[in-house]
Amino acid sequence: GKGGEFMNNPEVDFAIPENQKKMQEALDKIKADLGFTVPIVINGKRETGTVVERPDPSETAVVASKAHFASVAQAEQALAAASAAFPSWRDVSVKERADLLRRTAEQFEKRRFEISAWMVREVGKPWREADADVAEAIDFCNFYATEMERLSEPRKRNLPGEWNEYFYDARGPAVIIAPWNFPLAILCGMAVAAIVAGNPVILKPSEQACRVGYFLQEALEAAGCPAGVSNFLPGDGEQIGPTLVNDPRVAVIAFTGSKAVGLSIIRSASEVRPGQREIKRVIAELGGKNAIIVDEDADLDEAVAGALASVAGFAGQKCSACSRIIVVGDAYEPFCHRLGEAMASLIVGNAADPATNVPPVVDADSQARIERYIEIGKQEGKLVGQKAVPAELVGKGYYVAPSAFIDCPADGKLCQEEIFGPVVAILKAATLDEALAIADGTMYALTGGLYSRSPKNIERVRREFRVGNLYINRKITGAVVDRQPFGGARMSGVGSKAGGPDYLQQFLVPRTITESV
Ligand code: GLU
Repeated sequence: GKGGEFMNNPEVDFAIPENQKKMQEALDKIKADLGFTVPIVINGKRETGTVVERPDPSETAVVASKAHFASVAQAEQALAAASAAFPSWRDVSVKERADLLRRTAEQFEKRRFEISAWMVREVGKPWREADADVAEAIDFCNFYATEMERLSEPRKRNLPGEWNEYFYDARGPAVIIAPWNFPLAILCGMAVAAIVAGNPVILKPSEQACRVGYFLQEALEAAGCPAGVSNFLPGDGEQIGPTLVNDPRVAVIAFTGSKAVGLSIIRSASEVRPGQREIKRVIAELGGKNAIIVDEDADLDEAVAGALASVAGFAGQKCSACSRIIVVGDAYEPFCHRLGEAMASLIVGNAADPATNVPPVVDADSQARIERYIEIGKQEGKLVGQKAVPAELVGKGYYVAPSAFIDCPADGKLCQEEIFGPVVAILKAATLDEALAIADGTMYALTGGLYSRSPKNIERVRREFRVGNLYINRKITGAVVDRQPFGGARMSGVGSKAGGPDYLQQFLVPRTITESV
Protein backbone atom coordinates (compact mmCIF):
# COMPACT_ATOMS: atom_id res chain seq x y z
CA GLY A 1 0.00 0.00 0.00
CA LYS A 2 0.96 3.63 -0.28
CA GLY A 3 0.24 6.67 1.83
CA GLY A 4 -1.16 10.01 0.90
CA GLU A 5 -4.68 11.10 0.04
CA PHE A 6 -7.70 9.22 1.33
CA MET A 7 -10.39 8.26 -1.16
CA ASN A 8 -13.77 6.67 -0.43
CA ASN A 9 -14.29 3.18 -1.80
CA PRO A 10 -17.16 3.18 -4.32
CA GLU A 11 -20.15 0.97 -3.58
CA VAL A 12 -21.00 -1.81 -6.01
CA ASP A 13 -23.73 -0.77 -8.46
CA PHE A 14 -26.29 -3.56 -8.49
CA ALA A 15 -28.09 -2.01 -11.45
CA ILE A 16 -25.25 -3.50 -13.52
CA PRO A 17 -26.21 -7.10 -14.47
CA GLU A 18 -22.66 -8.35 -14.02
CA ASN A 19 -22.64 -7.22 -10.38
CA GLN A 20 -26.02 -8.86 -9.81
CA LYS A 21 -24.57 -12.04 -11.20
CA LYS A 22 -21.50 -11.87 -8.96
CA MET A 23 -23.65 -11.42 -5.88
CA GLN A 24 -26.00 -14.23 -6.84
CA GLU A 25 -23.01 -16.50 -7.45
CA ALA A 26 -21.56 -15.62 -4.05
CA LEU A 27 -24.90 -16.42 -2.40
CA ASP A 28 -25.03 -19.76 -4.23
CA LYS A 29 -21.43 -20.55 -3.40
CA ILE A 30 -21.73 -20.00 0.36
CA LYS A 31 -24.74 -22.34 0.57
CA ALA A 32 -22.28 -25.22 0.79
CA ASP A 33 -20.49 -23.50 3.68
CA LEU A 34 -23.53 -22.63 5.82
CA GLY A 35 -23.01 -23.89 9.33
CA PHE A 36 -19.31 -22.91 9.13
CA THR A 37 -17.97 -22.96 12.69
CA VAL A 38 -16.11 -19.82 13.69
CA PRO A 39 -13.08 -20.42 15.92
CA ILE A 40 -11.67 -18.46 18.83
CA VAL A 41 -8.22 -16.99 18.05
CA ILE A 42 -5.85 -16.28 20.93
CA ASN A 43 -2.24 -15.30 20.24
CA GLY A 44 -2.51 -16.66 16.69
CA LYS A 45 -3.84 -20.07 17.78
CA ARG A 46 -7.27 -21.47 16.89
CA GLU A 47 -9.17 -22.63 19.97
CA THR A 48 -12.50 -24.28 20.64
CA GLY A 49 -15.28 -23.56 23.10
CA THR A 50 -19.00 -24.19 23.47
CA VAL A 51 -20.53 -24.27 19.98
CA VAL A 52 -23.55 -21.99 19.51
CA GLU A 53 -25.75 -21.93 16.37
CA ARG A 54 -26.95 -18.84 14.58
CA PRO A 55 -30.12 -19.17 12.47
CA ASP A 56 -30.60 -17.24 9.23
CA PRO A 57 -33.14 -14.56 10.23
CA SER A 58 -34.83 -14.81 6.82
CA GLU A 59 -35.45 -18.56 7.20
CA THR A 60 -34.83 -19.65 10.75
CA ALA A 61 -34.97 -23.36 9.94
CA VAL A 62 -31.54 -22.91 8.32
CA VAL A 63 -28.41 -22.58 10.44
CA ALA A 64 -26.36 -19.75 8.92
CA SER A 65 -23.26 -20.16 11.05
CA LYS A 66 -21.93 -21.63 14.27
CA ALA A 67 -19.32 -20.24 16.62
CA HIS A 68 -17.11 -21.45 19.41
CA PHE A 69 -18.03 -19.29 22.37
CA ALA A 70 -15.10 -18.43 24.63
CA SER A 71 -15.00 -19.12 28.36
CA VAL A 72 -13.91 -16.68 31.05
CA ALA A 73 -10.55 -18.54 31.20
CA GLN A 74 -10.08 -17.96 27.45
CA ALA A 75 -10.98 -14.29 27.87
CA GLU A 76 -8.18 -14.10 30.47
CA GLN A 77 -5.77 -15.73 27.99
CA ALA A 78 -6.72 -13.23 25.29
CA LEU A 79 -6.10 -10.37 27.72
CA ALA A 80 -2.70 -11.82 28.58
CA ALA A 81 -1.84 -12.15 24.86
CA ALA A 82 -2.87 -8.58 24.01
CA SER A 83 -1.02 -7.24 27.02
CA ALA A 84 2.17 -9.18 26.13
CA ALA A 85 2.02 -7.94 22.52
CA PHE A 86 1.72 -4.28 23.53
CA PRO A 87 5.36 -3.18 24.04
CA SER A 88 6.56 -4.50 20.68
CA TRP A 89 3.49 -3.40 18.67
CA ARG A 90 3.73 0.09 20.15
CA ASP A 91 7.26 0.34 18.77
CA VAL A 92 6.44 -0.81 15.22
CA SER A 93 6.68 2.20 12.90
CA VAL A 94 3.57 4.15 11.97
CA LYS A 95 4.26 3.47 8.31
CA GLU A 96 4.23 -0.27 8.90
CA ARG A 97 1.05 -0.11 11.01
CA ALA A 98 -0.68 2.07 8.41
CA ASP A 99 0.33 -0.30 5.61
CA LEU A 100 -1.12 -3.22 7.58
CA LEU A 101 -4.49 -1.45 7.47
CA ARG A 102 -4.19 -0.81 3.73
CA ARG A 103 -3.45 -4.48 3.09
CA THR A 104 -6.42 -5.42 5.30
CA ALA A 105 -8.61 -3.26 3.08
CA GLU A 106 -7.27 -5.12 0.02
CA GLN A 107 -8.29 -8.43 1.61
CA PHE A 108 -11.86 -7.13 2.02
CA GLU A 109 -11.87 -5.98 -1.58
CA LYS A 110 -10.81 -9.46 -2.72
CA ARG A 111 -13.55 -11.19 -0.74
CA ARG A 112 -16.14 -8.44 -1.16
CA PHE A 113 -19.09 -10.45 -2.57
CA GLU A 114 -18.38 -13.41 -0.31
CA ILE A 115 -18.46 -11.19 2.80
CA SER A 116 -21.67 -9.49 1.61
CA ALA A 117 -23.29 -12.86 0.97
CA TRP A 118 -22.50 -13.99 4.51
CA MET A 119 -23.92 -10.76 5.85
CA VAL A 120 -27.15 -11.45 3.99
CA ARG A 121 -27.42 -14.90 5.55
CA GLU A 122 -26.11 -14.23 9.04
CA VAL A 123 -27.89 -10.97 9.95
CA GLY A 124 -30.44 -10.51 7.16
CA LYS A 125 -28.78 -7.45 5.65
CA PRO A 126 -30.03 -6.74 2.10
CA TRP A 127 -27.55 -6.72 -0.80
CA ARG A 128 -26.96 -3.02 -1.19
CA GLU A 129 -26.55 -2.36 2.51
CA ALA A 130 -24.32 -5.41 2.96
CA ASP A 131 -22.04 -4.13 0.22
CA ALA A 132 -22.08 -0.62 1.75
CA ASP A 133 -20.99 -2.22 5.02
CA VAL A 134 -17.94 -3.79 3.34
CA ALA A 135 -17.19 -0.49 1.55
CA GLU A 136 -17.30 1.29 4.92
CA ALA A 137 -14.90 -1.22 6.46
CA ILE A 138 -12.49 -0.61 3.56
CA ASP A 139 -12.85 3.14 4.11
CA PHE A 140 -12.14 2.85 7.84
CA CYS A 141 -8.89 0.98 7.09
CA ASN A 142 -7.66 3.43 4.48
CA PHE A 143 -8.87 6.52 6.35
CA TYR A 144 -7.34 5.64 9.72
CA ALA A 145 -4.10 4.66 7.98
CA THR A 146 -3.88 8.15 6.48
CA GLU A 147 -5.00 9.77 9.72
CA MET A 148 -2.32 7.99 11.74
CA GLU A 149 0.31 9.15 9.29
CA ARG A 150 -0.98 12.70 9.65
CA LEU A 151 -0.87 12.49 13.46
CA SER A 152 2.62 11.02 13.45
CA GLU A 153 4.11 14.33 12.31
CA PRO A 154 5.49 15.69 15.59
CA ARG A 155 4.49 19.25 16.45
CA LYS A 156 7.65 21.22 17.15
CA ARG A 157 8.11 24.54 18.92
CA ASN A 158 11.84 25.17 18.99
CA LEU A 159 13.21 28.32 20.65
CA PRO A 160 16.80 29.38 21.21
CA GLY A 161 17.94 27.13 24.06
CA GLU A 162 14.72 25.11 24.22
CA TRP A 163 13.40 22.37 21.95
CA ASN A 164 9.76 21.33 22.39
CA GLU A 165 8.06 18.40 20.80
CA TYR A 166 4.44 17.19 21.09
CA PHE A 167 3.53 13.75 19.72
CA TYR A 168 1.25 10.77 20.18
CA ASP A 169 2.08 7.41 21.71
CA ALA A 170 0.02 4.22 21.92
CA ARG A 171 -2.33 3.88 24.88
CA GLY A 172 -2.54 0.15 25.63
CA PRO A 173 -4.59 -3.02 25.06
CA ALA A 174 -8.07 -2.33 23.72
CA VAL A 175 -11.28 -4.31 24.06
CA ILE A 176 -13.58 -3.90 21.06
CA ILE A 177 -17.24 -4.81 21.65
CA ALA A 178 -19.20 -4.66 18.42
CA PRO A 179 -22.86 -4.70 17.34
CA TRP A 180 -24.50 -6.98 14.76
CA ASN A 181 -26.10 -4.27 12.63
CA PHE A 182 -22.85 -3.20 10.94
CA PRO A 183 -21.15 -6.51 11.55
CA LEU A 184 -18.02 -5.78 9.54
CA ALA A 185 -17.81 -1.97 9.34
CA ILE A 186 -18.23 -1.03 12.98
CA LEU A 187 -16.16 -3.92 14.37
CA CYS A 188 -13.46 -3.09 11.84
CA GLY A 189 -13.54 0.68 12.40
CA MET A 190 -13.12 0.43 16.16
CA ALA A 191 -10.51 -2.34 15.85
CA VAL A 192 -8.24 -0.87 13.18
CA ALA A 193 -8.28 2.52 14.90
CA ALA A 194 -6.85 0.81 17.98
CA ILE A 195 -4.38 -1.27 15.99
CA VAL A 196 -3.00 1.55 13.86
CA ALA A 197 -2.54 3.58 17.03
CA GLY A 198 -0.26 0.82 18.36
CA ASN A 199 -2.72 -0.93 20.65
CA PRO A 200 -3.28 -4.71 20.48
CA VAL A 201 -6.95 -5.69 20.51
CA ILE A 202 -9.39 -8.25 21.75
CA LEU A 203 -12.20 -8.40 19.21
CA LYS A 204 -15.54 -9.36 20.68
CA PRO A 205 -17.87 -9.71 17.67
CA SER A 206 -21.60 -9.69 18.23
CA GLU A 207 -23.09 -13.09 19.14
CA GLN A 208 -25.31 -12.80 16.06
CA ALA A 209 -22.54 -12.02 13.59
CA CYS A 210 -19.50 -14.16 14.38
CA ARG A 211 -18.89 -15.38 10.81
CA VAL A 212 -18.86 -11.86 9.41
CA GLY A 213 -16.70 -10.63 12.30
CA TYR A 214 -14.24 -13.43 11.62
CA PHE A 215 -13.60 -11.97 8.14
CA LEU A 216 -11.84 -9.12 9.95
CA GLN A 217 -9.60 -11.51 11.87
CA GLU A 218 -8.85 -13.42 8.66
CA ALA A 219 -8.11 -10.21 6.74
CA LEU A 220 -5.80 -8.88 9.45
CA GLU A 221 -3.89 -12.16 9.54
CA ALA A 222 -3.62 -12.37 5.74
CA ALA A 223 -2.34 -8.79 5.81
CA GLY A 224 0.44 -9.80 8.19
CA CYS A 225 -0.88 -8.75 11.60
CA PRO A 226 1.37 -10.35 14.25
CA ALA A 227 -0.07 -12.98 16.61
CA GLY A 228 -1.34 -11.41 19.81
CA VAL A 229 -2.01 -8.03 18.20
CA SER A 230 -5.48 -9.17 17.16
CA ASN A 231 -7.24 -11.74 19.34
CA PHE A 232 -10.69 -12.87 18.26
CA LEU A 233 -13.13 -13.80 20.98
CA PRO A 234 -16.65 -14.79 19.99
CA GLY A 235 -18.76 -15.36 23.07
CA ASP A 236 -21.70 -14.47 25.23
CA GLY A 237 -21.39 -10.81 26.22
CA GLU A 238 -23.01 -11.36 29.59
CA GLN A 239 -20.53 -14.11 30.37
CA ILE A 240 -17.19 -12.75 29.15
CA GLY A 241 -17.98 -9.02 28.87
CA PRO A 242 -17.36 -8.22 32.55
CA THR A 243 -14.02 -10.09 32.50
CA LEU A 244 -12.88 -8.03 29.51
CA VAL A 245 -14.15 -4.69 30.79
CA ASN A 246 -12.93 -5.11 34.37
CA ASP A 247 -9.43 -6.36 33.62
CA PRO A 248 -6.73 -4.04 35.02
CA ARG A 249 -4.56 -4.48 31.89
CA VAL A 250 -7.16 -2.91 29.58
CA ALA A 251 -6.52 0.71 28.60
CA VAL A 252 -9.32 1.34 26.08
CA ILE A 253 -12.82 -0.03 25.63
CA ALA A 254 -14.59 0.78 22.36
CA PHE A 255 -18.24 -0.18 22.37
CA THR A 256 -21.19 0.29 20.01
CA GLY A 257 -24.58 -0.90 21.14
CA SER A 258 -27.42 -0.19 23.53
CA LYS A 259 -27.54 2.62 26.06
CA ALA A 260 -28.12 0.18 28.91
CA VAL A 261 -25.01 -1.88 28.15
CA GLY A 262 -22.94 1.22 27.34
CA LEU A 263 -23.74 2.85 30.68
CA SER A 264 -22.94 -0.35 32.55
CA ILE A 265 -19.54 -0.52 30.79
CA ILE A 266 -18.81 3.10 31.71
CA ARG A 267 -19.72 2.34 35.33
CA SER A 268 -17.52 -0.80 35.55
CA ALA A 269 -14.61 0.78 33.72
CA SER A 270 -14.51 3.66 36.21
CA GLU A 271 -13.70 1.32 39.08
CA VAL A 272 -9.98 0.90 39.73
CA ARG A 273 -8.92 -2.67 40.41
CA PRO A 274 -5.81 -4.21 42.01
CA GLY A 275 -2.80 -3.95 39.69
CA GLN A 276 -4.42 -1.31 37.48
CA ARG A 277 -2.02 1.41 36.33
CA GLU A 278 -4.23 3.68 34.29
CA ILE A 279 -7.66 5.22 33.99
CA LYS A 280 -9.60 3.40 31.29
CA ARG A 281 -10.84 5.29 28.27
CA VAL A 282 -14.35 4.30 27.16
CA ILE A 283 -15.68 5.18 23.71
CA ALA A 284 -19.38 4.37 23.44
CA GLU A 285 -21.72 4.81 20.48
CA LEU A 286 -25.24 4.35 21.81
CA GLY A 287 -28.82 4.86 20.74
CA GLY A 288 -30.97 7.43 19.04
CA LYS A 289 -34.57 8.59 18.81
CA ASN A 290 -33.98 10.45 15.61
CA ALA A 291 -36.42 12.90 14.05
CA ILE A 292 -36.95 14.32 10.59
CA ILE A 293 -38.68 17.69 10.42
CA VAL A 294 -40.80 18.18 7.30
CA ASP A 295 -41.31 21.89 6.72
CA GLU A 296 -44.56 23.26 5.37
CA ASP A 297 -42.98 24.06 1.97
CA ALA A 298 -41.00 20.81 1.63
CA ASP A 299 -40.96 18.76 -1.57
CA LEU A 300 -43.22 16.00 -0.29
CA ASP A 301 -42.17 13.42 -2.87
CA GLU A 302 -38.61 13.71 -1.67
CA ALA A 303 -39.59 13.93 1.99
CA VAL A 304 -41.68 10.75 1.80
CA ALA A 305 -38.97 8.80 -0.01
CA GLY A 306 -36.16 10.00 2.27
CA ALA A 307 -38.13 9.50 5.46
CA LEU A 308 -39.24 6.02 4.44
CA ALA A 309 -35.68 4.98 3.59
CA SER A 310 -34.57 6.32 6.99
CA VAL A 311 -37.36 4.47 8.83
CA ALA A 312 -37.42 1.13 7.08
CA GLY A 313 -33.95 0.62 5.53
CA PHE A 314 -32.49 -2.58 7.06
CA ALA A 315 -35.80 -2.77 8.95
CA GLY A 316 -34.90 0.31 10.99
CA GLN A 317 -32.02 -1.46 12.70
CA LYS A 318 -29.56 1.43 12.69
CA CYS A 319 -28.87 3.81 15.52
CA SER A 320 -29.15 6.52 12.85
CA ALA A 321 -32.65 5.41 11.76
CA CYS A 322 -35.64 7.75 11.85
CA SER A 323 -38.39 6.94 14.37
CA ARG A 324 -40.15 10.31 14.54
CA ILE A 325 -41.32 12.56 11.71
CA ILE A 326 -42.48 16.03 12.68
CA VAL A 327 -44.56 17.76 10.02
CA VAL A 328 -45.19 21.51 10.05
CA GLY A 329 -48.62 23.06 9.39
CA ASP A 330 -50.61 22.23 6.27
CA ALA A 331 -48.08 19.69 5.03
CA TYR A 332 -49.26 17.30 7.74
CA GLU A 333 -52.38 15.78 6.12
CA PRO A 334 -50.90 15.15 2.64
CA PHE A 335 -47.63 13.89 4.13
CA CYS A 336 -49.35 11.35 6.41
CA HIS A 337 -51.48 10.13 3.55
CA ARG A 338 -48.55 9.70 1.16
CA LEU A 339 -46.22 8.14 3.71
CA GLY A 340 -48.94 5.68 4.71
CA GLU A 341 -49.42 4.63 1.09
CA ALA A 342 -45.70 4.36 0.46
CA MET A 343 -45.26 2.25 3.57
CA ALA A 344 -48.00 -0.13 2.48
CA SER A 345 -46.22 -0.68 -0.83
CA LEU A 346 -42.88 -1.79 0.68
CA ILE A 347 -41.69 -5.30 -0.08
CA VAL A 348 -41.11 -7.33 3.09
CA GLY A 349 -39.02 -10.35 2.23
CA ASN A 350 -35.98 -12.56 2.46
CA ALA A 351 -32.75 -10.56 2.59
CA ALA A 352 -31.30 -12.77 -0.14
CA ASP A 353 -33.95 -11.55 -2.58
CA PRO A 354 -32.69 -8.41 -4.36
CA ALA A 355 -36.24 -7.03 -4.59
CA THR A 356 -36.63 -6.88 -0.81
CA ASN A 357 -37.03 -3.44 0.79
CA VAL A 358 -37.58 -4.61 4.37
CA PRO A 359 -35.75 -7.72 5.57
CA PRO A 360 -36.51 -9.61 8.78
CA VAL A 361 -35.11 -8.30 12.07
CA VAL A 362 -32.14 -9.90 13.75
CA ASP A 363 -33.67 -12.29 16.27
CA ALA A 364 -36.77 -13.42 18.13
CA ASP A 365 -36.22 -10.95 20.99
CA SER A 366 -36.10 -8.04 18.54
CA GLN A 367 -39.19 -9.31 16.76
CA ALA A 368 -41.11 -9.56 20.04
CA ARG A 369 -39.95 -6.11 21.20
CA ILE A 370 -40.97 -4.43 17.92
CA GLU A 371 -44.35 -6.18 17.95
CA ARG A 372 -44.84 -4.88 21.50
CA TYR A 373 -44.17 -1.34 20.30
CA ILE A 374 -46.65 -1.76 17.45
CA GLU A 375 -49.28 -2.64 20.10
CA ILE A 376 -48.22 0.40 22.17
CA GLY A 377 -48.59 2.55 19.03
CA LYS A 378 -52.14 1.32 18.57
CA GLN A 379 -52.95 2.23 22.18
CA GLU A 380 -51.19 5.60 22.22
CA GLY A 381 -52.23 6.65 18.74
CA LYS A 382 -53.58 5.45 15.39
CA LEU A 383 -52.08 3.35 12.61
CA VAL A 384 -51.79 5.37 9.38
CA GLY A 385 -49.80 2.95 7.23
CA GLN A 386 -48.61 -0.61 7.53
CA LYS A 387 -47.31 -3.39 5.35
CA ALA A 388 -48.39 -6.73 6.75
CA VAL A 389 -45.89 -9.59 6.68
CA PRO A 390 -46.84 -11.75 3.65
CA ALA A 391 -48.71 -14.87 4.82
CA GLU A 392 -46.15 -17.25 3.33
CA LEU A 393 -43.38 -15.69 5.45
CA VAL A 394 -45.18 -15.70 8.80
CA GLY A 395 -43.37 -18.04 11.17
CA LYS A 396 -40.56 -18.64 8.64
CA GLY A 397 -38.26 -15.84 9.82
CA TYR A 398 -38.13 -12.86 12.18
CA TYR A 399 -40.37 -10.68 10.03
CA VAL A 400 -42.18 -7.62 11.38
CA ALA A 401 -44.69 -5.28 9.73
CA PRO A 402 -43.31 -1.80 8.94
CA SER A 403 -45.75 0.56 10.64
CA ALA A 404 -46.47 4.30 10.84
CA PHE A 405 -48.55 5.91 13.58
CA ILE A 406 -50.17 9.29 14.11
CA ASP A 407 -51.60 10.99 17.21
CA CYS A 408 -49.02 9.53 19.60
CA PRO A 409 -48.11 11.89 22.46
CA ALA A 410 -44.61 13.37 22.06
CA ASP A 411 -43.74 12.33 25.60
CA GLY A 412 -45.21 8.83 25.30
CA LYS A 413 -43.40 5.52 24.88
CA LEU A 414 -43.52 5.37 21.07
CA CYS A 415 -41.98 8.84 20.77
CA GLN A 416 -39.38 8.48 23.52
CA GLU A 417 -38.03 4.93 23.53
CA GLU A 418 -35.62 3.51 20.98
CA ILE A 419 -37.49 0.76 19.09
CA PHE A 420 -34.78 -0.38 16.65
CA GLY A 421 -37.31 -1.52 14.09
CA PRO A 422 -39.32 -0.17 11.11
CA VAL A 423 -41.79 1.78 13.25
CA VAL A 424 -42.35 5.53 13.11
CA ALA A 425 -44.53 8.11 14.81
CA ILE A 426 -45.67 11.12 12.76
CA LEU A 427 -46.25 14.24 14.83
CA LYS A 428 -47.88 17.53 13.91
CA ALA A 429 -46.33 20.91 14.69
CA ALA A 430 -48.06 24.27 14.15
CA THR A 431 -44.77 26.10 13.57
CA LEU A 432 -41.08 25.41 12.96
CA ASP A 433 -40.42 26.49 16.58
CA GLU A 434 -42.75 23.83 17.83
CA ALA A 435 -41.19 21.26 15.49
CA LEU A 436 -37.71 22.06 16.82
CA ALA A 437 -38.90 21.79 20.40
CA ILE A 438 -40.47 18.38 19.75
CA ALA A 439 -37.39 17.20 17.88
CA ASP A 440 -35.19 18.19 20.81
CA GLY A 441 -37.49 16.59 23.36
CA THR A 442 -35.65 13.31 23.94
CA MET A 443 -32.50 12.39 25.86
CA TYR A 444 -30.74 11.38 22.62
CA ALA A 445 -28.94 13.55 20.06
CA LEU A 446 -27.61 11.32 17.29
CA THR A 447 -29.04 12.09 13.85
CA GLY A 448 -31.72 14.44 12.62
CA GLY A 449 -33.13 15.65 9.34
CA LEU A 450 -34.93 18.52 7.70
CA TYR A 451 -36.87 18.73 4.45
CA SER A 452 -37.42 22.37 3.52
CA ARG A 453 -37.18 24.77 0.58
CA SER A 454 -36.85 27.86 2.74
CA PRO A 455 -33.25 29.14 3.07
CA LYS A 456 -34.23 30.99 6.22
CA ASN A 457 -35.66 27.90 7.89
CA ILE A 458 -32.74 25.77 6.76
CA GLU A 459 -30.34 28.27 8.31
CA ARG A 460 -32.27 28.25 11.56
CA VAL A 461 -32.42 24.45 11.78
CA ARG A 462 -28.70 24.18 11.02
CA ARG A 463 -28.03 26.26 14.11
CA GLU A 464 -30.69 24.99 16.48
CA PHE A 465 -31.23 21.29 15.79
CA ARG A 466 -28.32 20.12 17.93
CA VAL A 467 -27.74 16.52 16.89
CA GLY A 468 -24.48 14.79 16.06
CA ASN A 469 -25.33 14.34 12.37
CA LEU A 470 -27.88 16.63 10.73
CA TYR A 471 -29.02 15.93 7.17
CA ILE A 472 -30.87 18.47 5.05
CA ASN A 473 -33.10 17.36 2.17
CA ARG A 474 -31.86 13.75 2.22
CA LYS A 475 -32.17 10.58 4.27
CA ILE A 476 -30.58 10.50 7.72
CA THR A 477 -28.81 7.12 7.54
CA GLY A 478 -25.72 6.04 5.63
CA ALA A 479 -22.96 8.31 6.91
CA VAL A 480 -19.81 7.95 4.80
CA VAL A 481 -16.30 7.83 6.33
CA ASP A 482 -14.50 11.21 6.22
CA ARG A 483 -17.41 12.97 4.43
CA GLN A 484 -19.84 12.57 7.33
CA PRO A 485 -17.93 11.73 10.53
CA PHE A 486 -20.52 9.90 12.59
CA GLY A 487 -21.58 10.01 16.22
CA GLY A 488 -23.92 11.64 18.69
CA ALA A 489 -24.07 13.76 21.79
CA ARG A 490 -26.08 13.61 25.05
CA MET A 491 -27.25 10.04 25.81
CA SER A 492 -26.32 8.91 22.29
CA GLY A 493 -22.76 8.33 23.38
CA VAL A 494 -19.39 9.49 24.50
CA GLY A 495 -16.30 9.98 22.39
CA SER A 496 -15.60 11.68 19.11
CA LYS A 497 -16.93 10.75 15.73
CA ALA A 498 -16.11 7.54 13.87
CA GLY A 499 -14.56 8.26 10.49
CA GLY A 500 -13.66 11.78 11.61
CA PRO A 501 -10.50 13.80 12.32
CA ASP A 502 -10.59 13.41 16.13
CA TYR A 503 -11.29 9.69 16.35
CA LEU A 504 -7.76 8.28 16.58
CA GLN A 505 -6.66 10.61 19.37
CA GLN A 506 -8.90 8.63 21.71
CA PHE A 507 -6.65 5.61 21.24
CA LEU A 508 -3.46 7.62 21.79
CA VAL A 509 -1.63 9.34 24.61
CA PRO A 510 -0.16 12.76 23.81
CA ARG A 511 3.32 13.41 25.20
CA THR A 512 5.39 16.57 25.40
CA ILE A 513 9.18 16.52 25.54
CA THR A 514 11.25 19.61 26.27
CA GLU A 515 15.01 19.62 25.96
CA SER A 516 17.16 22.44 27.20
CA VAL A 517 19.95 22.98 24.69
N1 GLU B 1 -23.17 4.95 10.62
C1 GLU B 1 -24.46 4.39 10.39
C2 GLU B 1 -25.31 5.33 9.59
O1 GLU B 1 -24.93 6.46 9.39
C3 GLU B 1 -25.18 4.00 11.65
C4 GLU B 1 -24.35 3.21 12.60
C5 GLU B 1 -25.16 2.45 13.65
O2 GLU B 1 -26.32 2.11 13.47
O3 GLU B 1 -24.53 2.15 14.69
O4 GLU B 1 -26.38 4.95 9.18
